[in-house]
Amino acid sequence: MGLADLHIHTIYSYDGTASVPAVLIRAKQIGLDVIAITDHDEIAGSLKALELAPQYGVEVIPAIEITTAEGDLLALNITQKVARDLPLIETILKVGELGGFCIAPHPIAGGFGMKSLSAYSILRALRNIEVAQILIGIETYNATTIDKMSNRYAQILGSRLNLAQTASSDAHVVEAIGLGATEFEGHTAQDLINALQEGNVGQHKKKEWNSVRILGSWAANYVGSTFIRLANVA
Ligand SMILES: [Zn+2]
Repeated sequence: MGLADLHIHTIYSYDGTASVPAVLIRAKQIGLDVIAITDHDEIAGSLKALELAPQYGVEVIPAIEITTAEGDLLALNITQKVARDLPLIETILKVGELGGFCIAPHPIAGGFGMKSLSAYSILRALRNIEVAQILIGIETYNATTIDKMSNRYAQILGSRLNLAQTASSDAHVVEAIGLGATEFEGHTAQDLINALQEGNVGQHKKKEWNSVRILGSWAANYVGSTFIRLANVA
């Protein structure tokens, strides 16, 4: 079985604290086969990871977390940015045109500035046949969500839909990487993409962090990462 964490943030996200090499080192250390760096409306960190990945023995699927007008959307297997703040369906179709596919992250979750897709937005989008071939996954376990009911709601929603159910960390600090991961048959990025398309993935869950730990570790790392952020991203 392979393991993938498909929702990780770096310093290229306004809110991430880990450098790209630090993410790759950690991913290898904890036994992940495939990762996706999904910075908010920014793809530079993901492309850097794609380039560096062979040196670290981890496979990278280039990706981005797009702010749509209806909430956050993970787009994978794309190498360019997609405009933010567009309607969900339009955004998904653009990702499809670029050869990518989508996962709905932390659906329904709210609070602390999280902008998540509602069940209504997801269901309405899936009624579009073309969209349904691109939006192939729903993240029903997010290990670092601050909205503690949201995983339960997401699981109920996911159990009603014919989508791959992923587990991710949504890590904004290095230590959180892999707290949630998606299991799949095989070990390569292509094996994972095939498994997602078939809806044939499992969930690997470590203990969820409580809100105090999530916010505390983020705040502590954020201050320290400001220097790396300025040096790397400038
Ligand atoms: Zn995220």
